[in-house]
Amino acid sequence: MSQSIKSKTPILVIHGGAGAISKRSIDSTSRTQYEDALKNILQHASKELFQGGSAIDAVSNAVKLLEDNPLFNAGHGAVFTRLKTHELDAAIMDGSTRAAGSVAMVSHLKNPIMAARLVMERSEHVMLVGKGAEDFAIQHGAEHVSMDYFSTEFRLKQLEEIQRNGHTSTRTALDHDISTTLNDAPLDEDKKMGTVGAVAIDLHGNLAAATSTGGLTNKLVGRVGDSPIIGAGCYADDLCAISCTGTGEAFIRLVVGHSIAAQMRYGNRTLKEASDDVIYEQLPKIQGEGGLIAIDNKGNVVLPFNTEGMYRGVIYSNQDLWVAIHDE
Ligand code: ASP
Repeated sequence: MSQSIKSKTPILVIHGGAGAISKRSIDSTSRTQYEDALKNILQHASKELFQGGSAIDAVSNAVKLLEDNPLFNAGHGAVFTRLKTHELDAAIMDGSTRAAGSVAMVSHLKNPIMAARLVMERSEHVMLVGKGAEDFAIQHGAEHVSMDYFSTEFRLKQLEEIQRNGHTSTRTALDHDISTTLNDAPLDEDKKMGTVGAVAIDLHGNLAAATSTGGLTNKLVGRVGDSPIIGAGCYADDLCAISCTGTGEAFIRLVVGHSIAAQMRYGNRTLKEASDDVIYEQLPKIQGEGGLIAIDNKGNVVLPFNTEGMYRGVIYSNQDLWVAIHDE
């Protein structure tokens, strides 16, 4: 058990991806659309948390709602692979027990985060991929959908755009790492990453993290990013909980989530010092772009990103809620 002081104030933090979300091109309708979505999700997902519910339930609920919202690149609205298919990844971790579950390359589960939770709670494993993950989750009650449930016109245009522009066969793109000509492009969609995630602390001071993504537009079939890798795009222990968004390969190579926890545990760094080190010092050295949300066991929250913006929000109580897109 942790020797640290336990927080008595529940907090939920969410993100909907980071990237070059240009302040210039964002119109007020789009801004409101994203901000309202973040606020609604924070309010709904935190209801039980504020009544004594667990951090693990709060992050599951928040990520499920983010997956259901087509504005974000996870669940319904996920990006396309190079072969016009969808392969989704998700992970969840309970910091109080270090129990963890993840799924990768799933194409027929409505909410990959719930499947990750089933892996954590109902199997003796941590990670299941592909058909095995789908069969296991469905067997344990996960909702099955046909793959086109995830498809949206907007993401299809993104794929067509990257392929039409003569990008080489090895080119991939972070969610919106391509300009689209869509009228309903919510923001400057250049380089936006749309992975979603949540971290929380509950009344008992327990921490949890969850992350879910459609991955990269035009990714190779079979590619797995950082989001379902415990210790990279998702991590929680008794000190902190972290959920990442960004260039997955760089986040895997830096083992971002665990690196932050290790800096705190072995280097006595604060959550802010450790997170800033990874996002502003280490990632740029390997051309990594993105951000993360994190919370420590005292209730300190950080939301650093090295891109122009990151969709993010925090709720401390029903009356005390904050959402932002840019550095504001
Ligand atoms: N990190 C995700 C991945 O590489 C992408 C993202 O954050 O948008 O799959």
